[in-house]
Amino acid sequence: MTAYQEKLLERFLRYVAIPSQSNAAVNTVPTSQGQIELGKLLVKELQDLGLENVKQDEHGVVTGFLPGTCARATLGFCSHLDTVDVGLSDVVKPQVIDYQGGDVVLNEKEQIIMKESEHPELKAYIGQKVIFTDGTSVLGADNKSAMSNIMTALSILVEEKREHGPIYVAFVPDEEIGLKGSKVLNLENFKVDYAYTIDSCALGEVVYETFNAGSVYFEITGVTAHPMSSKGVLVNPILVAHDLIALFDRKQTPEFTADKDGYWWFNGIEANALTCNLVMHIRDFDKASYQKRKEFVSKAVSQVQKLHPKAQIKVRFEDVYENICNNVKKEDKPIAKLYAALEEVGVEAKTYAMRGGTDGSCLSARGVVTPNYFTGAHNFHSLYEFLPLDSFEKSLEVTLKLIETA
Ligand SMILES: [Zn+2]
Repeated sequence: MTAYQEKLLERFLRYVAIPSQSNAAVNTVPTSQGQIELGKLLVKELQDLGLENVKQDEHGVVTGFLPGTCARATLGFCSHLDTVDVGLSDVVKPQVIDYQGGDVVLNEKEQIIMKESEHPELKAYIGQKVIFTDGTSVLGADNKSAMSNIMTALSILVEEKREHGPIYVAFVPDEEIGLKGSKVLNLENFKVDYAYTIDSCALGEVVYETFNAGSVYFEITGVTAHPMSSKGVLVNPILVAHDLIALFDRKQTPEFTADKDGYWWFNGIEANALTCNLVMHIRDFDKASYQKRKEFVSKAVSQVQKLHPKAQIKVRFEDVYENICNNVKKEDKPIAKLYAALEEVGVEAKTYAMRGGTDGSCLSARGVVTPNYFTGAHNFHSLYEFLPLDSFEKSLEVTLKLIETA
């Protein structure tokens, strides 16, 4: 194990020991006490490293500032504090295995085996030290590997007295349940020229294209009447909703689309005889066609309204996040610097357009261009999540290179 790997591992084990699952059933941010506890630890560590303005705000967002020792762009690094709740234990018992190929016995007692045949991605890591779970939880590399990466990078800058520009860090809660933390991050505490998130993804993966995303809330009010005397009177809001849904292309849905295709996704309905509340998500990589989809919704509503003049249809749009590259091109600084950093540390870039959003999509929508790069981990949100130490270190090297070349 290299000296940097030891540093990373030590931090990683410390952070995964604090359970910090977010809780989708809670409406306030942060949604769990664990994220506050983890944030408190980070506050102390940031203060010990000599960062300024270190704080944990009322939403559990932790921010800090490391003044520059030389003139460079002001960089930001962001990681989320929460781990996902997929019904597994929130107690993480990681193990470092010298992987020599074949199946991995995650848990001898419970006979939880990770089969190489089902996980061919393992083959790339033969002969490497890899952090695995004990088969009862996720590993939490999503996103405690990123947290360890950022904190280790800061400690290296300070301990090795490396030159660096001004750096802001932000640790945000509740990414897994709708990017809630990056929505409430106070940008006064994150006054960067541009920023990066480090999240998920295997060695070399870069994401700077994400969906433009929005939600549409329909509230349909019908007219109730006793069915014995309903003819020409009753307006059934459920059937109004049915007519509305029927206007949307059945093939432009998550289950029929891939790659760069956008979609509509009706994913919530609550109804009775009087009202029907309907929820739809809109996703599209292209901002213009995202707008067109919204216009289509408005047209569909007026069409159905004509069909059912006595029904009342209210519609409310909510933009949720935005494609990171709406306002930036591949040649522009934040993205070009990232590709250059990967090349300089000898990692082949694997770019992919993410059919989802990152904290960076949210920050980008708020005016801070924030691409994402890999942590090195695989199989996030699963008990088969694992983190190879060599990839973990490469991710750290990218961070250090971005700081050096800002
Ligand atoms: Zn994540």
